[in-house]
Amino acid sequence: MLLSLLSGGCDSLILENPAQQDQEKIREVPMKGWLRNVWNAVWSVGEALWVTVRTWMASYDPKRRTFTHRYEYPERPAVLAERFRGFHRYDLRLCIACERCARDCPIRCIYMSKRRVEGRKGFQVTAYVIDYTKCMFCGICTENCPKDCIKMGRSYDLSGYERNGCMVDFAKLPLEIAWAEEGLDGAAVARSALVTEPVHPGPEGRG
Ligand code: SF4
Ligand code: SF4
Repeated sequence: MLLSLLSGGCDSLILENPAQQDQEKIREVPMKGWLRNVWNAVWSVGEALWVTVRTWMASYDPKRRTFTHRYEYPERPAVLAERFRGFHRYDLRLCIACERCARDCPIRCIYMSKRRVEGRKGFQVTAYVIDYTKCMFCGICTENCPKDCIKMGRSYDLSGYERNGCMVDFAKLPLEIAWAEEGLDGAAVARSALVTEPVHPGPEGRG
């Protein structure tokens, strides 16, 4: 800004024609304008800083401590609300592959595949993928499941190095992780990408 002010001042000097106007006047007027601009800039910065300091002093409460004192994530687990909706829990042992959850999902981010198995009724789920790059954790998919085998979990931490890590195939995850109350394990999700067959044949007692 200072440079533009300086250049503005110089332009003004160049535009004035010394041959036609009083030399003193020419020097005086642009210099006054330039100083006024500098003063305005300094004043407005100081005024803005004063608003910040005044608000900080009015709102600071030593008892409340800072935001980072309350939420020391990831050193400590984040504090969750009682009805927090995190990554899903899914039980392949009960799922009948009706696709109700996938149809209900408003953004269509549940991808299922299934197959018939010789000598038994119904289907076997071969893939149950939720795309967490799209999921908005609304929980609608869990509301009409006839077997109550898809729920919202309480885990919120699933980081990875690739976008593929956000595509979780619950049919390839160990059951104790896919259905765990405490939620998904990033390392297990990465390992599940190498699994080609579902980890369980389907609902118990059907066959
Ligand atoms: S939580 Fe909502 S957006 Fe995510 S899979 Fe379920 S229905 Fe779809
Ligand atoms: S999770 Fe529930 S709603 Fe979805 S396919 Fe399986 S049984 Fe049907």
